[in-house]
Formats: sequence, C-alpha cells, structure tokens
Amino acid sequence: MKVIDHINNAKETIFSFEILPPLKGQNIGEIYQTIDSLMEYNPPFVNVTYHREEVVYKQMPGGLLEQKVIKKRPGTVGICAAIQNKYKIDAVPHILCGGFNREDTENALIDLNFLGIENVLALRGDCIKGETYFKAEKDGHAFAADLVKQIYEMNEGVYLDEELQNRTPSNFCVGVAGYPEKHFEAPSLNNDIAHMKAKIDAGAEYITTQLFFDNEKYFKYVEKCRAAGITVPIIPGIKPIATKKHLSILPHFFHVDLPDDLVTAVEACNDNKEVRQVGIEWAINQCKELKKAGVPVLHFYSMGKVDNIQSIAREVF
Ligand SMILES: Cc1cc2nc3c(=O)[nH]c(=O)nc-3n(C[C@H](O)[C@H](O)[C@H](O)COP(=O)(O)OP(=O)(O)OC[C@H]3O[C@@H](n4cnc5c(N)ncnc54)[C@H](O)[C@@H]3O)c2cc1C
Repeated sequence: MKVIDHINNAKETIFSFEILPPLKGQNIGEIYQTIDSLMEYNPPFVNVTYHREEVVYKQMPGGLLEQKVIKKRPGTVGICAAIQNKYKIDAVPHILCGGFNREDTENALIDLNFLGIENVLALRGDCIKGETYFKAEKDGHAFAADLVKQIYEMNEGVYLDEELQNRTPSNFCVGVAGYPEKHFEAPSLNNDIAHMKAKIDAGAEYITTQLFFDNEKYFKYVEKCRAAGITVPIIPGIKPIATKKHLSILPHFFHVDLPDDLVTAVEACNDNKEVRQVGIEWAINQCKELKKAGVPVLHFYSMGKVDNIQSIAREVF
C-alpha cells in the first residue's frame, strides 16, 4: 500500500521509522531485532536508507596508497523485500540521483516494481566524500525534482526507450526530503522551498523532513510551504539526542541548530546515560506537541539504536 494511502486512511498520527542497511559483512538479524522491538507501535511503513559508494585509501605493501571505491552499506533493495515479506508492512527504499544515470534508475525501479514495492523516497544524495560539490552522473539527474519526474513518467508508462513494446506503467508513491532549517546549499529558506515546489509539481505526494529539535522551526516551515502552494503532508523527522558528541555531530552532518535549553541540559549531564534520558524527555515533549498539532506521521531516525525510540513511542502512542 502507498504511504499516501496510509496517511489518508489514518485516524490518528502514525508511527514510522528509518533504518540503515548493516555494514557490509554483518547480517540482517540486527535489522529484524530493530523492527521486532518497534512492531508493537504498528508502523505501517519503514524507510530504508541508500548509501552510495565511497572513496577509501588502502595502504599497500611499501607504503603506497591505493584508491578504492567501495559501498559500505549495500543491501537497501534486499532489506526492503525482506521486510515486506516477513512483516507484511510497506518498505520505502531511498533512491538517489547520485551514482545513477537514468538507465540505472529505470532498472532499479523495475526491480522494485517486480518486488511489489510501491513506495520510494526520491533524493539527490550528497557529494562523494572528499568532493566539495554534488556531481550528477553522465545522463543522471542533478536534482531530486528530475528524479521524481522520471518516476512519475514511468508511472505513466513512459520508459527511456520509446520503441519498447507493451510498456507497463509502474505505480510508485514518491516522497521527498524537506529541510525546516533550510538545505545547507540553498541561499535562503524561501529559495529552498521554491525548489521543493518543483518536486511536488513533478508529482511527489508527501515530504519527510530532516531531523529538528525545535518544533517552532517545523511549524514555520509548514506555514511557508503552504504559503508557497505546497499542500502535501509534511512528516516531521525526530531524532532523540543520545550522546554528548551529538552536540557537535548533529549540527555538522545535518546542518541543524539545537535549542539552548537542550544544549544546557546535555552539557550538565555527568555521562551519556543521563544524556540519553534528557534526549528521550526532549523528544517526548516534541512528539506530544506535534501529535497534538495533528501531524500525519511521527518519523524516527533510529540510526541503529532503538531503546530510546521505544521509550518515546511508549509515552506518545
Ligand atoms: C528524510 C531524509 C532522508 C534522507 N535519506 C538519505 C539516504 O538514504 N541516502 C543519502 O545519501 N542521503 C539521504 N538524505 C540526505 C540528502 O540526500 C541530502 O540532504 C542531499 O544533499 C539533498 O537531497 P535532496 O533530495 O533534498 O536534494 P534536492 O531537492 O535536489 O536539493 C538539493 C539542493 O539543490 C537545491 N536545488 C534544487 N533544485 C534546484 C534547481 N533547479 N536549481 C538550483 N538549485 C536547486 C535545493 O534548494 C537544495 O539546496 C536524506 C535526507 C532527508 C531529509
């Protein structure tokens, strides 16, 4: 079933979460453990991130460095199929512009379609580590809006090769990413929202936001999107802070601000056990306010750790 139908059919706020494929060499058991421990909150869908290739340097005998391109977390599509098969809930694979040309994208969508996966989150992706700017593949997409357009064209039966016979339309529901605190490359929030409008005009049916810690930023973002003519559901992304290191890691990687009260409370903690508790309480308050405001879904970034999400879900759902 499509995410948009889950949202439209829901009588109250839905619980959902995102998981990362395990590092190469590890097994799928830890994914199952994560899902098992969150099933009691009835997630109708689960997102699975996609991780593009990385450039790494390996030391060779003699000291020379050899450059290698590797994928540390493959398996997105396999995990999605396994989740749908085992749990009978919908999997939402993330699909990127980065590393894919249009033909690769078309082939990936065909695989997903054959596996009975009806949802994707369409993203541009970031630049490869070590590069400064995102570079599209030759004949690939430079922006998520163009990827969304290709998926909806396939939903209309339009494939890259116009001479194909008996073209079967796909049937994907596409979500896209939104940034209440602005995407870091955008010159302004209004400019970023104008580009968001292009993703929606291309067919995207809902937005999932970057994690944030200040609900006011989300509420203002929704207001601005509505003023720009964006009417689709906007799903807030929640990540409970869990370690002191998060105070520097989260702003660095996700380009978000942490409210002073939260920073002060975390800094006052004696150890990460206390930080975890502060993070849980902050997220519970955030979620209760968002739920009261009628958000369609509360979407949790698990990043492989679920005990704190369980504690939050227990209080909120
Ligand atoms: C919910 C969520 C899930 C994510 N999952 C993953 C994942 O699984 N794997 C992963 O690698 N990354 C993931 N990301 C990170 C994402 O790939 C990066 O944030 C990336 O830098 C931007 O992706 P996007 O789809 O928002 O890009 P876009 O919507 O293409 O926007 C990128 C930038 O370009 C600007 N822009 C858009 N269109 C134009 C235009 N026509 N002209 C000029 N500028 C334009 C935008 O304002 C923005 O600044 C996720 C992010 C979120 C919020």
